[in-house]
Amino acid sequence: MSELEEKIRKLRKQLLYHAKRYYVDDAPEISDYDYDMMYAELKRLEAEHPEFFDPESPTQRVGGKPLDKFEKVTHTVQMNSLADVFSFEELQDFLDRVSQTVSRPAYSVEPKIDGLSVSLRYENGIFVQGATRGDGFVGEDVTQNLRTVFSIPMSLPEPLNLTVRGEVYMPRQVFEKLNLAREAAGQTLLANPRNAAAGSLRQLDPKIAAERKLDIFVFNFQDGTLYADGSAPQTHKETLDRLAELGFHVLENRIVAESADEIVSHIKRLGELRDSLAYDIDGVVIKIDDLATRRLLGEGTNTPKWAVAYKFPPEQKQTKLEDITVAVGRTGVLTPTAVLTPVRLAGTTVSRATLHNLEFIREKDIRIGDIVTVQKAGDIIPEVVRSHAELRGAGTTLFSMPERCPSCGEPVFYDADEGAATRCTNSRCPAQLSRGIEHFASKDAMNIDGLGPQLVEALLQNGLIADAADLYSLQVDEVAQIDRMGTKSATNLITAIENSKSAGLERLIYALGIRNVGEVAGAALAARYGSLAALQNATVEDLCTVEDFGEVTAQCVVDFFSHPQNRELCERLTEAGVVTVSTAKPTDDLFRGLTFVLTGTLPTLTRDEASERIKAAGGRVSGSVSAKTSFVVAGEAAGSKLTKAQQLGVTVIDEEMLLNMIEQRSVTPTA
Ligand code: AMP
Ligand code: ZN
Repeated sequence: MSELEEKIRKLRKQLLYHAKRYYVDDAPEISDYDYDMMYAELKRLEAEHPEFFDPESPTQRVGGKPLDKFEKVTHTVQMNSLADVFSFEELQDFLDRVSQTVSRPAYSVEPKIDGLSVSLRYENGIFVQGATRGDGFVGEDVTQNLRTVFSIPMSLPEPLNLTVRGEVYMPRQVFEKLNLAREAAGQTLLANPRNAAAGSLRQLDPKIAAERKLDIFVFNFQDGTLYADGSAPQTHKETLDRLAELGFHVLENRIVAESADEIVSHIKRLGELRDSLAYDIDGVVIKIDDLATRRLLGEGTNTPKWAVAYKFPPEQKQTKLEDITVAVGRTGVLTPTAVLTPVRLAGTTVSRATLHNLEFIREKDIRIGDIVTVQKAGDIIPEVVRSHAELRGAGTTLFSMPERCPSCGEPVFYDADEGAATRCTNSRCPAQLSRGIEHFASKDAMNIDGLGPQLVEALLQNGLIADAADLYSLQVDEVAQIDRMGTKSATNLITAIENSKSAGLERLIYALGIRNVGEVAGAALAARYGSLAALQNATVEDLCTVEDFGEVTAQCVVDFFSHPQNRELCERLTEAGVVTVSTAKPTDDLFRGLTFVLTGTLPTLTRDEASERIKAAGGRVSGSVSAKTSFVVAGEAAGSKLTKAQQLGVTVIDEEMLLNMIEQRSVTPTA
């Protein structure tokens, strides 16, 4: 072997060793910098000497090409979900149920990692396939992306055939860095590490997935042989210890417990640890340790009978309310926002929370300087739960709404009817104007990429635009002069603006920012009138016959187009070449006549994605549940819509069932 080949081999070996120390053992021996240097050197040598190519090289973890789509994978063993319990009483019910069949069982008590489930298949000790859970039976082949997860061994020390299951997650630090970068680039922030991990794993380009630095905890042995002599493990603990020995990053902080007391105290301990862990956990899984006992208890339809997940209540924290600022929204409503001493909450740092309106602040007796409890609603939007009068010192102050608009200085009006809102009614208010243009450009409206709040502000300040229609006459050199812009980003912006001309009538109507007209109403209006010109001349009477329209919304539409200023805006948009007629193509008719309502956080799809799928299949998406609703698609932390659906007897389905319906081209939901 040449000296060079020797060197390459040695580098590969060292990198693999250090990657394991870092990703699997959590005990790095060298700095990130030194690691990166070694990695760079190996990459250089391999590029110069392709004759020494080796698919096992650490550099090959990101060797794949972008895919068009993910292939389907049928799981050999169903990837089950878990039954949830939310209190120690419910947990006790589970333990009692088990003891009717088994006496004195031992339980593995382990953290429930808040990520997404995957299976990893090895043949002759080589990693051959990784798949998402999907509906439990069929998932997606994400092998390429999983190869970028360094704690997944590409080969095992023994030539075993086996499939394991684990939870892929994004470490909190990685998540925070990613969001900082997104913030700097003016992109929308990711809600939490779980969504970020799910999004990363579903990237078609493995290079992007690699940048996301995902990690995995293996928590189950699904199928195959664990020992070369074919012998089978007896307990879950033995299985996991053996998987660790084979080089997997296995769940940590788990115990085997024999009594309810032991289980509960470990749950409490994990609850205390929760904040200091490098990753998010959303509960504790309690499962029978003995594998023969598991088989005895068996499986339910979707969940095993030998395990439950104890879900933590939403995380709450106390922090100081330093100030209350008031922002003016697109429709002139003044919204108070709490400025908080930054506090870590469910995976992100929270320094602001909405206070809704003056009524909310009065009702909860919230004062500036108070210690308040905050939580994330549905683990996404931070909110103030209560103030602590008992901790109140001197020097707190009562909040009152400003009497004049903080943006334009005109007097504001309190409107007890319209959701207790305080409103600036000046139609030339700069804050309303810039919020309106931001809305016009936003993702769900005209989708002008890169045109965020800061840039809108800068364009207005520099006198380059005065309204949304002015966007279409912007020139590259004008935009390039704005601070920190440069020709390249300016060109990109102009291209994005140009592309938005064909966003379509639905989006355009929504983008105009007519009060009470959201995306759903925008689509209904586009379908009904077919052109902006026709919509402008619609009467209240006629508008009332549009699906889901009441008199209030109808009146809002008529009011909007009665302002000469708004009519002129529409005229100029049309002149600029914005498409103002409906180009709706005939859609699929699978869901024709069916109405869907979405509620809660779905496991893999965003709301928008789910709506898109439903609409693409010819269905309608509505914002509220009524007797006419065909299906409610419920996700995690589903709220009042779910309750209402149950009361009305509307069929409730989950994301998997929805996707199955589309895939199987059936309107009968199956799990
Ligand atoms: P849920 O999705 O809320 O029904 O919870 C079930 C999911 O929790 C499983 O599909 C796994 O992906 C995940 N999970 C995370 N940690 C564990 C663990 N320690 N044991 C079993 N499942 C886990
Ligand atoms: Zn104002």
